[in-house]
Order: sequence, then C-alpha cells, then structure tokens
Amino acid sequence: MISPFRILLAISVLTLFSCKTQDLAKVQKIIPTDKNITESTVNVNTIKGHIYFLASDELAGRDTPSPELNIAARYLATTLERYGVKKVLGADSYLQKVPMKKVTPATTGTIKVGTQTFNLPSDFLLLSGEDIDLKGEILFLQHGTEADFEKGNVKDKIIVTLAGYEGQSNPQEWFYAGREKQERGNKYGVKAIVEIYSNAQLPWAFLLQFFNQPRTMVDDTTADEDGTPYIWVNAGDPAAIADLKKNGSQGTITVTGSKEEMVETYNVVGMVAGSDPAVKDEYVIYSAHYDHIGRGAADASGDTIYNGARDNAVGSVTVLSAAENISKNPTRRSALFIFFTGEEKGLLGSAYYADHPMLPLDKAIYCFNSDNAGYNDTSRVTIIGLTRTHAQPLIEKACAAFGLNAKEDEVPEQGLFDRSDNVNFAAKGVPAPTFSMGLTSFDEVINRYYHQAADGPETLDYEYLEKFFKSYVYACRLIGNTDQSVFWKEGDKYFEAGEALYKK
Ligand SMILES: [Zn+2]
Repeated sequence: MISPFRILLAISVLTLFSCKTQDLAKVQKIIPTDKNITESTVNVNTIKGHIYFLASDELAGRDTPSPELNIAARYLATTLERYGVKKVLGADSYLQKVPMKKVTPATTGTIKVGTQTFNLPSDFLLLSGEDIDLKGEILFLQHGTEADFEKGNVKDKIIVTLAGYEGQSNPQEWFYAGREKQERGNKYGVKAIVEIYSNAQLPWAFLLQFFNQPRTMVDDTTADEDGTPYIWVNAGDPAAIADLKKNGSQGTITVTGSKEEMVETYNVVGMVAGSDPAVKDEYVIYSAHYDHIGRGAADASGDTIYNGARDNAVGSVTVLSAAENISKNPTRRSALFIFFTGEEKGLLGSAYYADHPMLPLDKAIYCFNSDNAGYNDTSRVTIIGLTRTHAQPLIEKACAAFGLNAKEDEVPEQGLFDRSDNVNFAAKGVPAPTFSMGLTSFDEVINRYYHQAADGPETLDYEYLEKFFKSYVYACRLIGNTDQSVFWKEGDKYFEAGEALYKK
C-alpha cells in the first residue's frame, strides 16, 4: 500500500505543474487506491464466463478423478498464463501432480483356518493390497509391536494381532498402528497382517460402508511399500477367533475382484512476485478447491450431473479474479494461487500440498481460502474464522466497501472450519480462514443446492456475486499490502502451531 505521505507528495508535485484546478480530480484518479484497482479488473461478465464453464454439464461435476477434472485444471492453468501469472520458481508447469489411487474393493474372499471359514465382507475386510491367494503358518503376536516382531520367527508367516496397541481405543489410532504393522510386515517379509477388530466407537457396519465402496486416496507410497496384504477380521465369533489365534495352524487367504488404479490428478499453482523488495520474499496464499462430486442420483427432473456451481466453481473463480487483479497490479508481498484437487474426497489436494509445499510454508503469512456450501443472505459474506486472526479489520473493511457485512461463521455446529482445505494450512500454523457466500443457517435454501444436481450456474445471483468477488479481491489486496500482523489471535487452537512455524 502506498503510504499517505507518498500520495500527498505525488499530488502536490502534479498539482504544481498543472494550471487548472479541475485537474485535481484527474490527478486523484491517477493514484489509484486498492479499492480502485479492485474495481478496475473485477467485472460480472468475466465472472459469469468462468463459472458457466467450470460448472457446465460438459465438465460433468468435476469428480476426482475424472477426465473432466483435468480439463478444468487445464482451463485454470491456461487462464493463469493468460493473466500473466507465473509458474512457481523452479517448476516447469502450473500443474502439481498429486499421486492418487482409486481403490475398488474386493468382491469375494475367504480366510480358512482349521475348520473355520471367514467370508468377505461380513467377517473380514482387505484394507490394503490387491487380490490375494496365499497359504502360510499362523503366528499370533499380541499387539504386533516392533518387539513382538523381533522376538517371533515371523518370516513367511500369516501374522495375527489385536488391532491397535495396548491401551488404545480410538479407531483413528488403530489405523496409524496398522500402518506401522504393515511396514513391519514389509520389513520382516511376512505373508499377511491380519488384525482382530472390535470397536464400539466404529462398529463393523460403519467400516463396511466406508471400505466396501470405491474410494480415492492420495498414494504417497511406492508400489513396494504397500506390499503386505493388511486385513481386519470382525471379532464377532469368539470360537472362530480362538482358532484364528492358534499358533502353528495353516491358514489360506483368497481375495478376488479388488483393483487399485493409479490416477492422474493435479493441483494448479501459480505466483506473482511482490512489488516491495523489503517483503517480497513473504507471500499470501489464495486458494480454493476446483473439484466437486461428479454424477449422482437423478433429481426430480432426471438431472444426474452435480455441477457444483456454488461448491466450488464460485470459490475457484474468486481466486482467478484475485490472480487477474494481482498479476496486473502486484501487491507488496508475493501472491501464490492454488486450486486444489480432491477436496470432496477428504481434502486430499490441500493435504498433499501442505506436505509438499512449492514455496517454504514459513514465508506464507496467510492463507485466504474460498469455499462454499451455498448462500441464503445476500447482505453478507460469511468468513469462517474471521474473528480468529488479526486480518479481521482488513476483511471487514473490504466487504463494507462493496456494501456487504462480513460475518463470522454462524453455524459452528457444522464444523465448517475443519471441513475445507484451509484446515490443512491452519494445522501447519498458517492463519487460514475461508471466505464464503452469506450463510446464516443450514436451512431449506442451502439444502436445496448443497451437493445436489440443482447447484447449477443459472441459479446464482450475479449482482450479489459481483460484490462478493470485489470484496474478496479487495481483501486480498489489503492483506498482501498490509503493515500490520495478520497472525492468529492469542489463545486460538492453532496459535502455538503458528508460533512454531514462524519461530516467534
Ligand atoms: Zn462440497
């Protein structure tokens, strides 16, 4: 931001050389404010064009993975290029490859030990690995700690353990423990890891719902690393489980119909260097997810394409609007624009980016994310996390300039802060709220469109959107140019993570 002193100086000098007093008005126009600069690039037809493309039927709801999602990625990348946004230093593309795999669960399978037969999926699930056909000697290893593996003669055996470690009851912890046991399995050359599962917090029926349907996940490992088949057995039948734990007995495991497929998906990333040498090594992240949920059940009109106009073509285009604006008029700090893949599959693209940042995260002073469930109040903007960082007055000022009220999340029970990509940056310590259309409650209007086929571009109020986009871009400029701290407020859940990141 230009200092008031410089503005005054510039006006005086120019006035000195002009003889007509009415020129003062012209002169003031020559020194644009961040608000003027915002207004100079944000216009409703550009916004409409982008949204109508991204949320078109031809892009089929931008599912992760899908060819249409990659078309959207290409569109975002070429638009960045057209706007003059640069690739990140050292990168040869605007596309950051996010390795993912699509897992189709097995259709049939049995584990046979003695006279017992366990059937898939009512009695067991294959959590990791593809089709299996193996035989081996059973070895029961209690909780399967490193010490248990070291002591036992485990090579080429089917290792049976209790799920999790001693004293753990949380299924989340059990997943982590299982991952470690699987790695031990790889290291010690065992044939399979079979864990006995019984957990009231996450009953078998719920596990089935998740693991017994196709799912997409980040695949951060090499093919070798997930070599050992990893299985959970339902502990429902005590007699069968007693047989499964009998050391020395022979077991056979067969599983068929499963499929793991590597898929190509991308985050789209570009940057604009800052204008002030003193702070240009710092940068602000402007981000949004560009995927949605693809096709789904037909609605009353027979429509099966979930266009995701609100969620999140709108967010993607707010970031595009900031990119166009900042590329033409750089802020003092550098700007990094990121469009995430796989948000709807579990915040996958942002999780991957936060673990593999293309610029050092401790130079990112802020992440201003944009994501939307929908809107039911066009007098306001909902900023999830507004009151949690010191950027609050800047964001409020930007919204007020275009006649909108900036409001903190009014549906905290929905846990929206933790349901979008911003949380992956917050967890690393980067202050990261989410800018959303005005939402006062999850009422009938929201539910009519939220994750529905009805969420199409023709149902949006573009008069409101123009103000909404201008508010976002103006706020971006104020944050990118500010002299004040935009850090977490003291006492925030992520305050300490932030202190650790920035070594305060
Ligand atoms: Zn969504």
